[in-house]
Amino acid sequence: MPVITLNPHFLELKPSYLFTDIARKVEAFQQSHPDRQVLKLGIGDVTLPLPEPVIQAIHNAVAEMGTAEGFRGYGPEQGYAFLREKICQADYTQRGIGCIQPEDIFVSDGAKSDTGNFLDILGQHLTVGVADPVYPVYVDTNIMAGRAQQIVRLPATAANGYQPGPDNLPQALDLIYICSPNNPTGSVASRELLQRWVDYCHDHHALLIFDSAYEAFISDPDLPHSIYELPGSETCAVEIRSYSKKAGFTGLRCGYTVVPAALKVTAEGRPDEVSLRQLWNRRQTTKFNGVPYIVQRAAEAVYSPEGEQACAGNIAYYKRNAALLKTSLAKMGYQVYGGSNAPYVWLKVPAGFSSWSFFDYLLEQQALVTTPGSGFGDCGEGYIRLSAFGSYEATQAAVQRLQQLPRQI
Ligand SMILES: *Cc1c(COP(=O)(O)O)cnc(C)c1O
Repeated sequence: MPVITLNPHFLELKPSYLFTDIARKVEAFQQSHPDRQVLKLGIGDVTLPLPEPVIQAIHNAVAEMGTAEGFRGYGPEQGYAFLREKICQADYTQRGIGCIQPEDIFVSDGAKSDTGNFLDILGQHLTVGVADPVYPVYVDTNIMAGRAQQIVRLPATAANGYQPGPDNLPQALDLIYICSPNNPTGSVASRELLQRWVDYCHDHHALLIFDSAYEAFISDPDLPHSIYELPGSETCAVEIRSYSKKAGFTGLRCGYTVVPAALKVTAEGRPDEVSLRQLWNRRQTTKFNGVPYIVQRAAEAVYSPEGEQACAGNIAYYKRNAALLKTSLAKMGYQVYGGSNAPYVWLKVPAGFSSWSFFDYLLEQQALVTTPGSGFGDCGEGYIRLSAFGSYEATQAAVQRLQQLPRQI
């Protein structure tokens, strides 16, 4: 048996029981009710197949790799220029954002890894602000990095539209995570709120990490898709995006992180400014060898006219599910949030229930699987998350089952 020193912070992590507990309960239910068909409203994964133009691009790239001329070995760690230029054009320049250059874009195998990896370049003594409830990755990666005692949870409640702002903070923050559109609440940060956070970062020399993995679900023209729509953000914010939810890449794996050239920090003990982009580049070129050429061609195809159309069709499909869930539940008398510019509906459980007891009730009564809000943080207690990532037929069937429950139980 090896005798070694461990990273002690891994031992501070709380085991994550949420999805295993759900799976266990569903399994037990299915065992005792073999004839009941369970409907899943809990999935945080896409279900539609990859768009045809993406598949075509993959086929083409595979064929290229099999020829002497088309073969590619190691590519640039930051991503191929064809993709970085396309991203810059389509996601930033054409949307009126002039402060981002292709060199600021780092293509990766997804937003989850970037979210965690980015902490490699930051120091330990940071106070970190995250919403409560929250995407657990922000919290656990900071615990792994030794910041368990420096995490400040900002309540996301009905009163603040489930997007906390920078007022009345219990202490000053150095690093702030914002997820918009939000997982799990489905809320979206307004332009005004994001501007206040950007201003906060400038006033307090803080860094913002903006996770816009669900950006493609925004249809309200007033809501910002990118943090760089806000003036001053290019000197305080990093943006993390993904093709997972936008284009169905959860299994294919591709995303990117934007670190603007203008994002400079002053570090303790150093008189000069340090470029975060340069540090991130150093981190990536040392620890990462790039995303497969085939996958980057697939991501490029997302931006072709056919690709855009196909992805928009898939997003519209999920959004129709979200709208059906939201309007039907509201008609039944439930309090529902999110679901309009996001694939998640955040439902307040009826009086007398907790997140888990309502989860159990829906499973027992109607064989419906949801996600208890308390699994995402203490302020998620009293809510459940409903996902729009299932099929339309399953969503319709789920709504019919919900309608069979006593009204406003
Ligand atoms: C699904 C999701 C992502 C995407 O992660 P990938 O690693 O790119 O698949 C990022 N952030 C949040 C909040 C998510 O829910």
